[in-house]
Amino acid sequence: MGLEIYHQKRDFRRTPEPKGKVSKANKHRFVCQEHHASSLHFDFRLEIGGVLKSWSLRKGPSLNPEIRRLAVPTEDHPVEYLEFQGHIPEGNYGAGEHMIWDSGTYKLLEGESAEEQFEKGKLKFELNGARLKGAFNFFRLGTRDQWLLVKGKDEYALADWKLELLMPDAEGNKFIEEEKKAARRSATRSPRGHAGKSNEPVTKISARAEKGEKLSSLDGVLKAENPEGDKRVKVGEYVLDLTSLDRVYWPESGFTKADLIRYYYEISEYILPYLENRPLIMKRYPMGIGGQSFHQHDVDEVPEFVRTIALEAEDEGIHTVDYIVCDNLQTHLYLANLGAIERHPWHSQTSNLEFPDWFVFDLDPGEEVEFETICEVAVSTRQVIDSLGLESYAKTSGSRGIHVYVPIKPEYAYDRVTDLSERIAKIVAGENPKVATVERSKSKRTKNQIYVDYLQNAYGKSVVAPYSVRPKAGAPVSAPLVWDEVEKKKISIKDFTIENMLERVGKKGDLFKAVLTDKQSLEEAFEKVKGKAKRAK
Ligand code: MN
Repeated sequence: MGLEIYHQKRDFRRTPEPKGKVSKANKHRFVCQEHHASSLHFDFRLEIGGVLKSWSLRKGPSLNPEIRRLAVPTEDHPVEYLEFQGHIPEGNYGAGEHMIWDSGTYKLLEGESAEEQFEKGKLKFELNGARLKGAFNFFRLGTRDQWLLVKGKDEYALADWKLELLMPDAEGNKFIEEEKKAARRSATRSPRGHAGKSNEPVTKISARAEKGEKLSSLDGVLKAENPEGDKRVKVGEYVLDLTSLDRVYWPESGFTKADLIRYYYEISEYILPYLENRPLIMKRYPMGIGGQSFHQHDVDEVPEFVRTIALEAEDEGIHTVDYIVCDNLQTHLYLANLGAIERHPWHSQTSNLEFPDWFVFDLDPGEEVEFETICEVAVSTRQVIDSLGLESYAKTSGSRGIHVYVPIKPEYAYDRVTDLSERIAKIVAGENPKVATVERSKSKRTKNQIYVDYLQNAYGKSVVAPYSVRPKAGAPVSAPLVWDEVEKKKISIKDFTIENMLERVGKKGDLFKAVLTDKQSLEEAFEKVKGKAKRAK
């Protein structure tokens, strides 16, 4: 810890900011500053280890426990900064009005050393300021250096709390508005579906039948031999538009959009439990698997039955992303109609977003790896996980690899789970040196190697859901497996498709069910993995 970066960034002949030095006092003070720089933000600083550990929060803290603020670390500041406010002149770093919005002290609610908790990326504290009071949880997220600040549920929590600015922002607003989206800098970037982003919250479109309107029945439409064109169907109390039903989505096998919708309808009771209550990332192929595709996180406009959740994300600055949460059959079918062939749910639920309730190893083979070898590495992964006292479950990715899931209690921050999964992946690679690797760079892997990808276990990341369809020839599906099938290597990816998956679940039931119910504690695994990692070296 030091102030080198702080000093480098500033010319103290030109800025009124304090030069300051590392202090010996450790009074557990905090400050939250309103900073009208090139863009308005709040600086949150905690006195830790003789300096002010600092984070930038675009919309400041919140006393509403439902609001999760993304906090991006900035350079350490001197403790003298606790009292700084004033105008930083043009041409200087952070030019603009800087004011103390709140200050006071904090008390750790877990652990004894703030430095230690900071290093672990998990701070639980109570703030004692004029505006900020009570318990807060503050976590580092997975592999990227971002934190989340969330108000704990106590007597100081306020569901309808709004942050009042000391000075109005450039548009004259006196409050930080929850529902506002950051305008995108460019309307032409579209990979995440941000194109033409407005400043508005998600628009909900009515999905009720017109008076006297005649609607088709969903079963009737999907049971027809060759469903064609557009149909308005009734699903429960809502109306759903199914469009271009005869569009060919899989040219080689001739499967159409209607086939995709029919599969998702028939499999809905099996797939929905893996999508419910989780932010969802869609991979859309509106013209079929040969056409353009894109990942979509954010939506602007949805039918009224679709639930969305607004979350902050960082991508060229912090902005709000409205994720779909696929909680009901209507939403599930609506997504199929959008050409969302792939469904990628988060590893954590909306009620507990900071804590994943499963983690995953994505065994991703190079071009020349035989499926039998993938099965062997999957079995080896299971054995390593088993030696830590944990059960794991396998499914085909539906593409070329196998996913191994470990269901866990939603009690461990992403950071710790990522760390554990990294250790496990390294042991697996160590035990299968010829065929497995944790090398991230594709160019450094050979065509005969399987990449043991543990990096999807960070906050905001995902893998394809069980029963999700993949945009590959033959319309394969990500299929839950019994370990016996993996051990005997009797299966292949192409065995499971939208044509036969329903029959399989009819016979075998949901082979992945334990992933939803068998939530395991990680305490033992955290201990055991340390010794193993040493031996593996
Ligand atoms: Mn600032």
